Amino acid sequence: MVSDRRAPRVALFGYPLGHSMSPPMHHAAAAALGMELSYSLWPVEAADLPGAVRGLRADPWLGANVTLPHKPAMLHLVDAVSPVAGRIGAVNTVAKRAGSLLGENTDAPALLRCLRESFDLQPAGELALVIGAGGAARAVVAALLDAGVARIRLWNRTPEHAHALVAALGAADDAGLSRVRVADRFLPDSVAEAATLVINATSVGLDGHTSPLPSVAWRRGTRFFDLVYGPDGTPLVRHMRSRGFQAQDGLWMLVYQAALSFELWTGLQPSEQVMYAAASAALAARAHPAPGRDAT
Ligand code: NAP
Repeated sequence: MVSDRRAPRVALFGYPLGHSMSPPMHHAAAAALGMELSYSLWPVEAADLPGAVRGLRADPWLGANVTLPHKPAMLHLVDAVSPVAGRIGAVNTVAKRAGSLLGENTDAPALLRCLRESFDLQPAGELALVIGAGGAARAVVAALLDAGVARIRLWNRTPEHAHALVAALGAADDAGLSRVRVADRFLPDSVAEAATLVINATSVGLDGHTSPLPSVAWRRGTRFFDLVYGPDGTPLVRHMRSRGFQAQDGLWMLVYQAALSFELWTGLQPSEQVMYAAASAALAARAHPAPGRDAT
């Protein structure tokens, strides 16, 4: 599609970079708007990241997405950081503003929009159980705190990582952190059973079979949100729906965060339906690669 070498360009910085649904989503969004855009994967090691970011300052670059492990480092390589990205301590989008590079985080607003649209849920007053302590969990905890959640229990396979997450958030801004408690290795059933909102921010479920949830008697009406997504939903979502709970996977969140990035780069609102269709098709192709073609 991209024939003009001067077509606007965006890259995804990360290392290593495996599968990504970002290129098909952004190419589909651009095509639907009749614009050219080249979205490429740019595997870059930490030592080479400053040079790669310098390259973004030239035309025809519009900016970049950032993924593991560079989201925290990008905070220090851009000229300015949005309040949300600063609080989360991670940049997932770099966009140009009057010749400067702005670091933004679109995961947090995308999550809050999904909770609103999936469950008609405003986090204010909710008792949340967040599972995980990686970069995504950090965005989840910051977003919930900013949205006025009543309490968060954070539970992670490695409790030290959960404590580190809370300490890092507290270093950025300690307001509200009294509402977060780390549940150590064994999550008490009573704590899980009290939750009104459960969010999986681990990568468990990517295999299509494993659920990260403890086996407890969940409270009636508890809502379950899984940041993981898959071609047939996720094990968590399938299981909780079969038990009559509202549950949603992370595919729309992926689309919403991508749409916000696209808007930051181009100033145009992309079709989220088009991006969702492209992401779904890419997921299906990954799950069922065409015969004779490499799955990657
Ligand atoms: P990360 O920084 O690598 O963190 C991974 C987390 O998963 C850690 O808490 C880790 O626990 C936990 N974990 C991994 N394997 C586990 C296992 N076998 N049992 C229990 N816990 C396990 O990754 P991330 O950036 O936070 O992303 C986490 C997930 O969210 C990924 O699947 C990613 O695709 C998804 N995500 C989705 C969206 C979206 O828009 N839908 C956005 C961002 C991320 P330890 O600390 O013990 O290692």
